[in-house]
Amino acid sequence: MVTIMSNAQAPSPRASLRMTRQRQVILEELHRAPGHPTADELYARVRRRLPPTSLGTVYRNLEILSELGIVRKVELGGAQRRWDSRAEQHYHVRCVSCGRVDDVQVKPLPGVQGALRPVTECELLGHRLEFLGRCPRCRHEAATPQRRVRGTRAKEDTHGA
Ligand SMILES: [Zn+2]
Ligand SMILES: [Zn+2]
Repeated sequence: MVTIMSNAQAPSPRASLRMTRQRQVILEELHRAPGHPTADELYARVRRRLPPTSLGTVYRNLEILSELGIVRKVELGGAQRRWDSRAEQHYHVRCVSCGRVDDVQVKPLPGVQGALRPVTECELLGHRLEFLGRCPRCRHEAATPQRRVRGTRAKEDTHGA
């Protein structure tokens, strides 16, 4: 069940449309999908439940849900846009090897904006923070290349290569 939180910004007329069945399913799948799925990944999940859905419909509804402050776009440099079922401010860590995005379980750091205030002429409205790293799976793969190579070599040996 999704609770629609009151949003400080007035939603645009387009965004105040009622929650359609498609939008409901998109939202449910966004909550269910591991990590922060792309629209394409969500589309694949939604289509299994609502076959006539188009990718365009998924995009459009994600934009509307984002305007309503129910979901959040995850902006990542150079990567395909991902979507977040958590609308409140939080930080991310992105795997530089496979692109996986995880939430970081720390409270937003108020000191970040305080430190910036003296050195910018802009009024600060918020900030996004993305950490870079390597996920457990990629780290594991990087740490154990020997196992694979050995397996391959053993096979080659039996073939007398
Ligand atoms: Zn990874
Ligand atoms: Zn997130």
